[in-house]
Amino acid sequence: MTPGRAQAPGPRGLLRRLREVMAEAGTVDERLARVVRNIAANMVAEVCSAYLLRGDELELYATEGLNPDAVHKTRLKVGEGLVGDIAAHARPLALADAQSHPQFAYKPETGEEVYHSLLGVPILRDNRVIGVLVVQNQTRRQYADEEVEALETIAMVLAEMVASGQLSGGEDLVAASRASTMPFRADGRTLSEGLAIGIAVLHEPRIHVEKTMADDIPREKLRLDAAVASMRDQVNKMLETPDNDIVGESRDILETYKMFAHDTGWLAKLHQAVDSGLTAEAAVQRVQGDTRHRMQAITDPYLRERLADLDDLANRLLLHLTGRPQHTAAENLPENAILMARSMGPAELLDYDRRKLQGVILEEGSSMSHVAIVARALSIPVVGGVEGVIAKVEPGDTVVVDGDHAQVFVRPVSDVVSAFHQSVGLRKARLAKYAAQREDPSITADGTRVAMLVNAGLLIDLSHLDETNADGIGLYRTELQFMVRPTMPKADAQTAIYRRVIEHAGERPVVFRTLDIGGDKVLPYLVKYPEENPAMGWRAIRLTLDRPALLKVQLRALLEAAAGSNLHVMFPMIAEVDEFRRARRLLDREVQRLVNLRKPVPLKVQVGSMLEVPALAWQLPALLPLVDFISVGSNDLMQFMFAADRGNTKLADRYDPLSPAMLSFLHWVVQQCHAAGTPITMCGEMGSRPLEAMALLGLGFRRLSMPANAIGPVKEMLRSLSVPALAEFMSKLYASPEHSVRGPLEEFARENGVIV
Ligand code: PEP
Ligand code: MG
Repeated sequence: MTPGRAQAPGPRGLLRRLREVMAEAGTVDERLARVVRNIAANMVAEVCSAYLLRGDELELYATEGLNPDAVHKTRLKVGEGLVGDIAAHARPLALADAQSHPQFAYKPETGEEVYHSLLGVPILRDNRVIGVLVVQNQTRRQYADEEVEALETIAMVLAEMVASGQLSGGEDLVAASRASTMPFRADGRTLSEGLAIGIAVLHEPRIHVEKTMADDIPREKLRLDAAVASMRDQVNKMLETPDNDIVGESRDILETYKMFAHDTGWLAKLHQAVDSGLTAEAAVQRVQGDTRHRMQAITDPYLRERLADLDDLANRLLLHLTGRPQHTAAENLPENAILMARSMGPAELLDYDRRKLQGVILEEGSSMSHVAIVARALSIPVVGGVEGVIAKVEPGDTVVVDGDHAQVFVRPVSDVVSAFHQSVGLRKARLAKYAAQREDPSITADGTRVAMLVNAGLLIDLSHLDETNADGIGLYRTELQFMVRPTMPKADAQTAIYRRVIEHAGERPVVFRTLDIGGDKVLPYLVKYPEENPAMGWRAIRLTLDRPALLKVQLRALLEAAAGSNLHVMFPMIAEVDEFRRARRLLDREVQRLVNLRKPVPLKVQVGSMLEVPALAWQLPALLPLVDFISVGSNDLMQFMFAADRGNTKLADRYDPLSPAMLSFLHWVVQQCHAAGTPITMCGEMGSRPLEAMALLGLGFRRLSMPANAIGPVKEMLRSLSVPALAEFMSKLYASPEHSVRGPLEEFARENGVIV
């Protein structure tokens, strides 16, 4: 307790007093004024003000201590001033000298210049900011942690009063406390093309706490204890299931849950929150809020993950308290679902029923992330990078995902819906046109033959091979089959999958890439090793060379599946020739093993290397004599060339694959392969966009592997292109000092009638 300060009665007494105030007569403004007066007295503060969100502005609704004329006049944008900053970050701020804070915004009408210290907390309803509650003092007061927590508790109760209409006549406030029901449009980034309309489903369901103020504190404590006990039971039961069901990471997580579920510090905090007058549910949410604030400030990835586990555990506890079944969004998916998430991994996406999932909206995400790659394979439209959208959507809202124009519409008006249906019609017509061009040979206007291949990995891709009339599968991502299963597929299961793919492809080649896990591709049953930079970490060939049993089983399955036919095997993330040699040795040994056992072997085994780590380009003279083919993975190559994480939203548009650096690098690589007579394919996403594919042909690629839906547009482009003219034009671009040569390439296409 700060010396010289009166003893505050604590929030429990205050909450009781606030309830009495609610019941008193008077206008809403009068009663809110009494509420803030009581809070100020309780917190021993000269000022207490309640700002509530109206549209995108925080309006001063009631104050004790500031100029009363400022009520309903002072408004701050979210993000403006200290109050706006608290709302923008949904976290408390305690400042002994508020005016020296860079975010301080002076509002002369309030007369607040005499108050030096400020403590403000967000007023949250269902994790959404609906206002800000502030206390101020003239002295430079250091607010203690307990005071921050007390004000947070009061803010929760205030949120409930506002939202439930307890301040009768406060319809304005009730409306302000709800998510807007207004339609809106938001821009994002196309992660997967296509259009969809449907019902918003939150990947992480919001748990709604109805009642925050406890009527009977001992009873709330009993409820809390019972919920904690049943949650512990559940975690124990899950841990008791046999090891083959829960291995690796899931077991680690459960052990962490178990540890937290017995953590006395956490439990004591929950009890204190109930003691302060909150219901058990509200107490869990309040303590969860503290965890989230801590998470925002922590950069250490390991600690962040542990705090995320604690956050998850709080959600579980809430489910036990509210008695809701522990279903995930994937289990309860409605027809026509549009899934909304902050971010998502490819395995999580694959958990959802494809027949019901119409589209996805992500607040983060980049087009090169694997969730985007999987969504494209499944033809699920995805718009990513739509910041802050989840807070503005209610589950069940109608939502339009326009992956063709990188935008989303929430609660669309009828005009938008009819425009949407028109776009669907146009899209269908476009797809019909590509289908009609299915038989057209992929030969450029000057007669250059281009091999058009598809990227695959899911069984649905086999039908794509026929629909597109592609020349084969240029990249089969074997890890996707590992990601859709709850446990590691055994050797037999792997053989069966590969055999099915080979049989379906028939004469058409299939390039099987060995397991490329790690980075954003996690297998739920494999122990995850905490890494600061997973994209540059223990992944792909690095992991499988260190765990050769994994690779051996896979190679064996591939060899058995391809017995009697041709097999193409490719190793991912090769950074140096020696890695390729070691991987190839493992393969050769497996072939020899089959020969020794007099088992059938493939007619021919061709072995290739991915080129996605720049270092390998300088070793091509040593590598090319050892490989049968090279395949460029532009997705990883881009991230390593530019030191720009392929999954980072902030960097998603920062560097252009059509940059002089990338194009001249690829030109040099292609020349080396051509000189050695080694086939080279582009299998990264770069080859899937017509303009980029055009540039690749200009610099010498003759083999492109891409998602199936790109075959139509890319083939149309190449049939309208004369390669020699483009190659000549591009020779002047490699040395360009510009950020990108997209502009000149677009101009070339326009002037030469190339359909891009
Ligand atoms: C690439 O990196 O370009 C690639 C084809 O592999 P993935 O996207 O699966 O990492
Ligand atoms: Mg890659």
